Amino acid sequence: MDREKLLEFIDKNRVRFLRLQFTDINGTMKNVEIPSDEVEGLLDSGIMFDGSSVQGFARIHESDMYLKPDLRTVAMLPWTFDGHRSARIICDVYEDPSTPFDGDPRYRLKLIQEKARSMGFIPYAGPEVEFFILPRKEGKPVFEFLDSGSYFDLLPVDIAEHIRTEVSVYLEEMGLDVETTHHEVAPSQHEVDFRYAEPVIAADNVQTVKLVIKTLAIRNNLFATFMPKPFFGVNGSGMHVHMSLFTLDGRNAFYDPDAPDGISQTMRYFIGGLIAHAREITAITNPTVNSYKRLVPGYEAPVNIAWSKGNRTALIRVPKARGNATRLEYRAPDPSCNPYLALAVMFAAGLDGIEKRIEPPLPVEENIYKMSDAEKQKRGISRLPANLKEALTEAEKSELVKSVLGEHIFEKFMALKEREWWEYSTHISEWERIKYENI
Ligand code: GLU
Ligand code: MG
Ligand code: MG
Repeated sequence: MDREKLLEFIDKNRVRFLRLQFTDINGTMKNVEIPSDEVEGLLDSGIMFDGSSVQGFARIHESDMYLKPDLRTVAMLPWTFDGHRSARIICDVYEDPSTPFDGDPRYRLKLIQEKARSMGFIPYAGPEVEFFILPRKEGKPVFEFLDSGSYFDLLPVDIAEHIRTEVSVYLEEMGLDVETTHHEVAPSQHEVDFRYAEPVIAADNVQTVKLVIKTLAIRNNLFATFMPKPFFGVNGSGMHVHMSLFTLDGRNAFYDPDAPDGISQTMRYFIGGLIAHAREITAITNPTVNSYKRLVPGYEAPVNIAWSKGNRTALIRVPKARGNATRLEYRAPDPSCNPYLALAVMFAAGLDGIEKRIEPPLPVEENIYKMSDAEKQKRGISRLPANLKEALTEAEKSELVKSVLGEHIFEKFMALKEREWWEYSTHISEWERIKYENI
């Protein structure tokens, strides 16, 4: 969409307000609303806002920042505000009208996308978002199941089914290409998958999916949670990401018809890079205390750093499809991550594998949850960090994470997360009181 087309779009759809969206370093979507008659100013120089009030953004002495619209992301919001129709536009954050802000997560991902192009590749990402839809009582979220459904179930057990259908309709109206939505393994757990795209657009789509799901849940007096492990003893919610690289002339660079398994050397190096950097990037792909309660054996979430051709206990799975559909699935991320930063470190790790020609270890087809420590050690299978603190220690030492996030985000992110870990480790929980009350 160009300037002319946007003006026409506003006119034709009777757009009253524009919601300018961007994402802070925690991955939370923010927005500023402007009446649609301010659009000329937006297009000329961007809209100024106070960056010092946004988590992890500007230093207080240079708080004026600009939002510059990415016109590829213009979409009508499928709901109205007091009957007024609004459109959303996802924006890039600038320090002044011509300088991108190096602390904008979307910009960090753009840089990696450009790096891939400079190496002769177009990267693609297909995230799969899992979440729970739970009840509200007297307006407050309640952690109780709404149904007793499981994988691919349908009514009458799946009482949130109509919300999933509405989610698909709304997302399609907003221009996303939804591939599947289904009930997931756990009660009240669901998944939405949409067509792969270049990483920046894929991350935009994750943000849109979360917004639409949360909005629809609230409108149905329910609540949607993307926390990675809301219930003990029950599958958590992941955000697996399917990843591939295409050559600039449109061939899948992960596919080699002459290799016995169809896997190209480029893909092997990419897997090698992801495995080599897996521990360092986990603080970004799994950034909350709760993330590590999902990464335990027995619930289809990865624990060990290995790759495989079918095995869901491995960190990296290569699905059967070949030809242009050749891809890998990186299974660590969860939906509490900032999707821009997570995709940035994941692609950077894979590209580093290509640059440094890092051979991956042999694939592991057995159930790794059941493997003894001695066996794992023999095969050189290490594990993902066991908690946020361990993950932060790994990230702190990582040149890759530092350069992908840039100094600004790296420092703010570390400080924020160290604080979160401190809060958690000094908090006295209900579990502790029950466990230790009689000591
Ligand atoms: N919910 C599982 C996870 O935490 C994944 C289930 C699946 O394979 O889709 O990663
Ligand atoms: Mg799933
Ligand atoms: Mg999956």
